[in-house]
Amino acid sequence: MRAEPLLEVNQLKKYYAIDQGLFKPKKMIKAVEDVSFTVYQGETVSLVGESGCGKSTTGRSILRLNDITSGEIRFKGTEISTLGDRELRTLRRKMQMVFQDPYASLNPKKSIRQILTEPLRVHGLFSPKERVEKAIDILKIVGLSEYHLDRYPYEFSGGQRQRIGIARALILQPELIVADEPVSALDLSVQSQVINLLLRLQKDFQLTYLFISHDLGVVRHISDRVGVMYLGRMVEMAKTADIFQAPKHPYTQALLSAVPKKHPDESKERIILQGDLPSPANPPTGCAFHPRCPQKMSVCQVTTPPLRHLGNGQYTACHLYAES
Ligand code: SF4
Repeated sequence: MRAEPLLEVNQLKKYYAIDQGLFKPKKMIKAVEDVSFTVYQGETVSLVGESGCGKSTTGRSILRLNDITSGEIRFKGTEISTLGDRELRTLRRKMQMVFQDPYASLNPKKSIRQILTEPLRVHGLFSPKERVEKAIDILKIVGLSEYHLDRYPYEFSGGQRQRIGIARALILQPELIVADEPVSALDLSVQSQVINLLLRLQKDFQLTYLFISHDLGVVRHISDRVGVMYLGRMVEMAKTADIFQAPKHPYTQALLSAVPKKHPDESKERIILQGDLPSPANPPTGCAFHPRCPQKMSVCQVTTPPLRHLGNGQYTACHLYAES
């Protein structure tokens, strides 16, 4: 039996206005366009795609770190995109973010004691003594110790700082963690330690992850399902095995053709895409991928393909496929 939906995103749009000068109208950048997906309790859903595809904006919009243009975001059935500040603060306990750059996201002037106890204080949780006890507990859980409590972020390595970032997210006992490129700023040798920590914490604390990454090797390792984004739209979503073994969308096929083979006997041909990623301020008509698509047809230039269900939980936005 499938778990309950924890997060439901429906037709999410996030546009930014850019000024073009005094006498010209503002131009809209469509950073996220009509994105819909569901994340079930306890699973890891990853969003992948080239930089500028809208995956980070989607993550930040879900946590209401930026306002949205339109659409619906439901957390445990409650529509949260219209919540006021007070209700939002209560909800934030349940939805936390782990950022890409652990150094930039930790205030360098604050000790680890302050960084970890502050979220508890802001939410009015526990006495000052209990908050410190909680901070020590969480440090141990992420592989650090009480000894680190009165140190400052600059005294830690990149991997340790990311452990502190994870501890800060975890101290409020969230249910959903949005992790935006959480290991991409770390050395390769440290990346797997942090990934293994995230996997262990997910099991121990029944966490649900929305994982945002351009690293398809990591995504394959940790995800239950994967969503592929291109120029602000979701172009494919499926179970991890289906995405990696039988990608349907031509963009997904090109993206995955760059992933190293898992086995030397595996047959794989690298698909080199022509042209650059178009500007989201001036997206192509029809299917936004058509200028680079090796399989484009005349319909692709005029009609935007909807995200269709092809069966077995695989969704693709491409005119090559009909709905099942
Ligand atoms: Fe290519 Fe057309 Fe499919 Fe877009 S809709 S991915 S252009 S075949």
